[in-house]
Amino acid sequence: MTAATAKEQRGFESEVRQLLDLVINSLYSNREIFLRELVSNASDAADKLRFLALSDDSLYEGDADLAVDIDFDEKAGTVTVRDNGIGMSREEVIANLGTIAKSGTREFFGALSGDARKDSQLIGQFGVGFYAAFIVADRVTVTTRKAGEPAAHGVRWESDGKGEYSIETVERAQRGTEIVLHLKEDAKEFANGWRLRDISKRYSDHISIPVRMPKGGDEEGSEVVNQATAMWTRSKNELTDEEYREFYKHVSHDFGDPLRWVHSKVEGKLEYTTLFYLPAQAPFDLWDREAKHGVKLYVQRVFIMDDAEELLPRYLRFVRGIIDTSDLPLNVSREILQKNKALETIRAASVKKVLGLIEELAGSEDYPKFWQAFGRVLKEGVVEDFANKERIAKLLRFASTHDEQGEQPPLVGLDDYIGRMGDDQDAIYYIVSDSLATARNSPQLEGFRDRGIEVLLMHDPIDEWLVGHLTEYGGKPLKSVLQADLEPVAGADAEKAGEQADNGVLARIRSALGERVADVRASHRLTASPACLVSGGEQMSANLERMLRAAGQDVPESKRILEINLGHPMLRVLDTIEDGERFEHWATLLHEQSILAEGGRLDDPAGFVRRMNEVVLELAGQPG
Ligand code: ADP
Repeated sequence: MTAATAKEQRGFESEVRQLLDLVINSLYSNREIFLRELVSNASDAADKLRFLALSDDSLYEGDADLAVDIDFDEKAGTVTVRDNGIGMSREEVIANLGTIAKSGTREFFGALSGDARKDSQLIGQFGVGFYAAFIVADRVTVTTRKAGEPAAHGVRWESDGKGEYSIETVERAQRGTEIVLHLKEDAKEFANGWRLRDISKRYSDHISIPVRMPKGGDEEGSEVVNQATAMWTRSKNELTDEEYREFYKHVSHDFGDPLRWVHSKVEGKLEYTTLFYLPAQAPFDLWDREAKHGVKLYVQRVFIMDDAEELLPRYLRFVRGIIDTSDLPLNVSREILQKNKALETIRAASVKKVLGLIEELAGSEDYPKFWQAFGRVLKEGVVEDFANKERIAKLLRFASTHDEQGEQPPLVGLDDYIGRMGDDQDAIYYIVSDSLATARNSPQLEGFRDRGIEVLLMHDPIDEWLVGHLTEYGGKPLKSVLQADLEPVAGADAEKAGEQADNGVLARIRSALGERVADVRASHRLTASPACLVSGGEQMSANLERMLRAAGQDVPESKRILEINLGHPMLRVLDTIEDGERFEHWATLLHEQSILAEGGRLDDPAGFVRRMNEVVLELAGQPG
C-alpha cells in the first residue's frame, strides 16, 4: 500500500470544528433539514456532471440517467443518500469536507453570540450544507469517486464530527457520492420508511432529477418520490408557495423563507424563463468583493454556471434564482456570455422584472425590513445603472426631519418628500454626515426646522457618492443644506442685518481667523447655534473629505465658509470685546465648535480645551 492509499487521520480546520458544534447544538429543533441539504448537494453534483459531459460525453461512463437514491436500514439505524453525479477526488474531499472555503466566513464567526437560539438563525443564513449530516448522525461515512477517474481512485471519508476525520483510497466502481448516516440514538426515527418518505417528498419535489426511495410495505424495488422536472418549467398555477419556498432554499442555501418571488415565462423572439427571489435576510458575504452572484444560468434546463455578473448587475447581487433559456448554445462560455445579444436582452428584462418586484414590495409592510438588509446595495444602482436610475431612486428610503418621534422614526421616500413640499420650495434638501445623530443635530438644519422645511438625513458612507450622481429627482434638484449658495430660508431681515454687520463684527472675525477659513458671512440658516461651516459652490463636503482621507487618499485641505448667526447672544458679547487677543480666542472657539458640531476633528484639540476653560473661568469671574 502506498502512502496515498493508507488510511490517514486528519483534523478539521478549527472553523469546521466550531461550525459542527454550532450545527449540533443549535439546529436540534429543525433536524429533518439534514435531508434537504444532502439532496440539494446531490442535485448540484448531477448538474455539474451534466455540464461537463456536454463537452466530454465519456464522463457519463455509459450511464447518463442521473438520479438520487435515498435508502435506509432500520436495524442498523442508518440513512443513505447516494448520487451518480460528479463525485470528488481525494483532494476535493479534503478541501470540501474538512475546511470551509466560503466567503463571509469571518463575518459569520464574528457575528456569533454564543446564544444557541440567536446563533441558529445566523447558521441558517450562513448555510451548513454537508455538515448538517451531523445533526442526526454521530458517524458519517462518505464514499465517492470522481467521474472519469478509474475505480481505484475511490475515496472513503469518515468522521464522528468531533474534531477529526479519516480518509483512505478505496476501490469504487460506481461514480458519484454515497453518504451513510449512522443515526444518533435519539434520531433513529429517521430510519423509517414512512418518516423518510414524508420528508423526502417535501425536500425533493423541486429537484429536477428523480429522487428515489424503496417502495413501501413488502414491495420490491424503488419508486420516484418527486416530480423530477425542473421546477420552473411547471406552470405558476400548478406550483404551491411551499414549493417555491423549498426551491428557494435549494438555490440560495438559505434556511429562511424568501420575502417575495417572481416567476415568468417569455415566449417570442427569445424564449426564456426566469424565477427570481428576494431574500429576507442579508447573507454574510453581501459586502465581500469575492462574493458569488446569486443567479444560476441554465440552457434548456442544463445548468451552465452561477456566479456570473453577465446575468444581473452587481447592485442586484442579493437576488437569488435562475434564468433558463433556449437561446444560448449549450457549450456557452463566459467569453461568449460577455457579448451575447440574446443574453443582453434577457439581462435587461430581468433587471426590470426584479425592480418591478421590489416596487411591489415597496408598497408593503415588509419593505423596511428589505431596505434594512439591502438598501445600501440598491443605492449602488443609482450610480451604476443609468437606464434605471429614476426607477431605483424611487425605491430609496432615508431618515428625515419630517417625523423624528420614537427610537426608529419611519424612513421616507423621495416621492413622500415631494408630496409634502410647500409651494414656494423648489428643491429637495438633504444633509450627509457620518452618523444619524450628527446629521440630526447639525446647526445647519436649524433654519429649515424653523420654517418647517423637511431635510433628508443621510449618514451612510455611500450617500456622498449617491448624491454626487443623483442631482435631481422628479424634476426637483437635490441640494445640500451645507452648501453656501443656499437661498435665504430664515427671511430677508437676516440678510439685511448681515450686510450692516459685514463691516463690523464679521470683518473682525474674518481678520482674526485669517487663512483658516475661506470667508466669514452672516448666516440665514441658523437660529439656535452661533456659527456653522458651509462649503462653497463645487467644493467637496467636509464629510466626503474625511471619508476619502480615512480611505488613504491624499485630499488637500479645503477652506470652508464660516457662517455666523448675528442674532446669537455670543455674537453680542463678541462685539463688545476690545482686546485683540481675547477676540481672537473667541473667534477661534466659534470656528472650532463649528468643526466639532459636524463631526470633524480639530488640529489642536488641547488648544481648544485651554481656550474654552479660559472663557469659562473668565465668565465665572475667576480669570486664570
Ligand atoms: P456548499 O454546498 O454550500 O458549497 P457543502 O458543505 O454542502 O457546501 O459542500 C461543500 C462542497 O462539497 C460542495 O461545494 C461540493 O463541491 C462538495 N460536495 C458536497 N456534496 C457533494 C456530492 N454529493 N457530490 C459531489 N460534491 C459534493
